[in-house]
Amino acid sequence: MRLSRYFLPVLKENPAEAQIVSHRLMLRAGMIKQAQAGIYSWLPLGFKVLKNIENIVHEEQVRAGHIPMLMPTLQSADLWRESGRYDVYGEEMLRVTDRHGRDMLYGPTNEELITDIFRSHVSSYKDLPMTLYHIQWKFRDEIRPRFGVMRGREFLMKDGYNFDVDKASALHAYNRHMVSYLRTYERMGLHAIPMRADSGPIGGDNTHEFLVLADTGESEVFYDSAILDLKFGDRVVNFGDWDECAAIVKEWTTPYARTDETHDPALFEAIPEARRKSSRGIEVGQIFYFGTKYSEPLGATVQNAEGKPVPVHMGSHGIGVSRLLGAIIEASHDDNGIIWPEGVTPFHCGIVNLKQGDDEADAACEALYAALTAIGLEPLYDDRKERAGGKFATMDLIGLPWRITVGPRGLKNGVVELTSRRTGESEELSPEAAIEKIA
Ligand code: ATP
Ligand code: MG
Ligand code: MG
Ligand code: MG
Repeated sequence: MRLSRYFLPVLKENPAEAQIVSHRLMLRAGMIKQAQAGIYSWLPLGFKVLKNIENIVHEEQVRAGHIPMLMPTLQSADLWRESGRYDVYGEEMLRVTDRHGRDMLYGPTNEELITDIFRSHVSSYKDLPMTLYHIQWKFRDEIRPRFGVMRGREFLMKDGYNFDVDKASALHAYNRHMVSYLRTYERMGLHAIPMRADSGPIGGDNTHEFLVLADTGESEVFYDSAILDLKFGDRVVNFGDWDECAAIVKEWTTPYARTDETHDPALFEAIPEARRKSSRGIEVGQIFYFGTKYSEPLGATVQNAEGKPVPVHMGSHGIGVSRLLGAIIEASHDDNGIIWPEGVTPFHCGIVNLKQGDDEADAACEALYAALTAIGLEPLYDDRKERAGGKFATMDLIGLPWRITVGPRGLKNGVVELTSRRTGESEELSPEAAIEKIA
């Protein structure tokens, strides 16, 4: 992409309405524009990162054996009356009526709709296990939308639902989700800690939230710092193997990590003091086993091996796709702007032409652009007639991992400058060597 042809409306001033750094940087980098309170347009740069995050989520869900699909945003109120949630859901639900007077709602979540699909088509245990998921916009009329996309009213969520014949297999689905989530967040450069969370009126310990540590997080969390040493890495997991998944879950749930709702001071005090940490965290996902809570009222049953009809055991598993942009920026920025982890960056590198219009500099930039593109990388070429300082500031603000600076002086010696956004270190290299380093 050439910057002269792109739409990147960066702001020079700090927007007054933004209270936290990720919101400020997303506005300044021209990634989003507020349409109404808690509702955002995704400008090209923001949209690109959103899609990258979405793709990682898809890849990891498919890797775990889960099946992608898409359900609508608008749902029928009648289905929610069947589960009993239409009246109890409260003010967060946006209710609408169509021209025929039929009650509808903008889905805040999809347990009812997915269970309706399931009960219409599946009737035998032989079709199980099955996990269906989608990535779709949700609406929750949050009382205090704030922090940009972090607590929006309209937001993008991955929500997946497992259907299993009994509790044991549903708990394997739970474990499978935890394992796939660990890998998902790590690919985004995040350390998201699974924390035992509150399962509300259902009870039990079958829910975990994934939290990214950040001062601006809305949750209070308590953990053993030993959990920060765990790394998923690129282990190859057999997601069909119950024991293998259970062992990984055990590894990550053994060190103490809880949100304030389930915090147990006695257990916490037992951790060596140096490892006892409390801080704030951003909830970027949650997994939940809830048994037959929806399958019973909605009549989602299958015949088991003995030919007996049994309600299916379910769980739902969410990832805050749009919230993740904010969480990643909270975890990865400096005074000059965003520092994108390689896994989600909107462009792989920036090319800064110090002397636009100089034949040699222009040609060198074009050659770099073509060479990077040819090996499947996406560069952002700042080909505007601007001062170098302004170009550097823009590149730092939008946070691409690498910047290649090209100017007549370096070209005389056959070199360009390669700068790492994260370390700030620069080196002079031949264009070929710079490309090799980025690739
Ligand atoms: P919170 O506690 O932050 O209100 P939640 O527990 O109500 O979130 P879930 O129902 O668990 O949310 O939804 C799954 C995921 O969707 C959450 O873990 C979070 O990452 C994301 N999410 C929830 N509400 C919002 C929101 N208003 N804006 C952006 N993302 C959200
Ligand atoms: Mg909520
Ligand atoms: Mg929550
Ligand atoms: Mg939650």
